[in-house]
Amino acid sequence: MRYISTRGEAPALGFEDVLLTGLATDGGLYVPESLPHFSLEEIRSWRGLPYAELAFKVMYPFVEDAIPADDFRTMLDETYSGFAHQSVAPLVQLDSNEWVMELFRGPTLAFKDFALQLLGRLLDYVLEKRKQHVVIMGATSGDTGSAAIEGCRRCEHVDIFILHPYQRVSEVQRRQMTTVQGDNIHNIAVKGNFDDCQRMVKESFGDQSFLGGKTQLAAVNSINWARIMAQIVYYFQASLALGGPDRSMAFSVPTGNFGDIFAGYLAKKMGLPISQLVIATNRNDILHRFMSGNRYEKQQLEHTLSPSMDIMVSSNFERLLFDLHGRDGAAVKELLENASKGPVSIEDYRWKSARKLFDSDAVDDKTTCDTIREIYEQNEYLLDPHTAIGVRAARNCRRDATVPMITLGTAHPAKFPDAIVESGLSVKPQLPPHMADLFEREERYTVLENDLAEVQGFLAKHWKNA
Ligand SMILES: *Cc1c(COP(=O)(O)O)cnc(C)c1O
Repeated sequence: MRYISTRGEAPALGFEDVLLTGLATDGGLYVPESLPHFSLEEIRSWRGLPYAELAFKVMYPFVEDAIPADDFRTMLDETYSGFAHQSVAPLVQLDSNEWVMELFRGPTLAFKDFALQLLGRLLDYVLEKRKQHVVIMGATSGDTGSAAIEGCRRCEHVDIFILHPYQRVSEVQRRQMTTVQGDNIHNIAVKGNFDDCQRMVKESFGDQSFLGGKTQLAAVNSINWARIMAQIVYYFQASLALGGPDRSMAFSVPTGNFGDIFAGYLAKKMGLPISQLVIATNRNDILHRFMSGNRYEKQQLEHTLSPSMDIMVSSNFERLLFDLHGRDGAAVKELLENASKGPVSIEDYRWKSARKLFDSDAVDDKTTCDTIREIYEQNEYLLDPHTAIGVRAARNCRRDATVPMITLGTAHPAKFPDAIVESGLSVKPQLPPHMADLFEREERYTVLENDLAEVQGFLAKHWKNA
């Protein structure tokens, strides 16, 4: 399997290189040159498979040039046995033909574990083979940092440095990062805001000379192809559990960077019958404005009760735009260059072809809280604010009541207690048993000034073989 850039100019790469590369050299994102396609008969034959085996069937075509089958199987077994539910991604019924798929049974209680638990193992495997080492550097305002740290804790060939804004992340989120023990794990609290952290990461990638040429930086952000790949699997799992592939499904996906829902789009292209995908956003609704009016325009960032979806642009949307433009990299490049200067639209027939599959909705904080309360009153089931947005959008956009509607449950409610309080409910979401002692665990992090040289000096001094 070869991978090509959405902007058409960077060289095609194999899986190993795509895994270690962030952006393509032309500024685009890597996508498979062609997708595997499974017949209904083949998909049907996967009914009842354990999650890790289904994951093998769905993903192996993407990695087969780089990883022998048995090694990949072992990696998947290890990855998904770390989830606190036998089915890995259990379904909970909300109403007739309406479901939540709980993707928060992994070690950090959010769906990002599905990809990052695997990504850490993939990286270590490839680096071992190549006798290389990398330093992962990232900035986080919450979820991604903890999932990335958990994913890399056992890596021999990876040191990870995660910057978070000092005293500006929730205690649960900070503790999920800072209580993970490992001599390759480094949490840095920067006396600045999230943008300061992000700028330092960006500048460090731009000039890596502070590492003295002895190692290189790698990114695990949501544009990494391997993360998308790992998210395709659970669409198959949910469908098979509810009578697919002999009936089609609808999914509603709480969306930020468009990674999770893009995986659903790929599942459909690989042969899974999906008749509707709902893009559920919060007030940061660039995708909803595009889907409802064919106008793609950046707006100011808003802080909401669903912080993991607070974005101005959705980086992975470029991958969909590439397909909508008949995989013409030059056209995508031009469109996105124009989009950085002002609002853009695409040709009407291209937009309409997207609208055949995608619907969208934007849900504000008040409606998010109303939905948390409503679902709790109906079912005594607590939603986290991100999932609540998905459920609201699913109900608002539903096309056909005979098609099962599945909302992706992206986080455990105990991760975002503020939204539960705001919703006026008096229940307190409890951390699951394996996390119950989170507030007693020992924390490890270093507070640094908002100063690039100081942060870079810390990295240079503390990576394993420095
Ligand atoms: C990251 C995240 C999202 C958004 O996922 P994308 O792939 O960026 O669209 C939604 N909910 C939660 C809880 C997340 O952590």
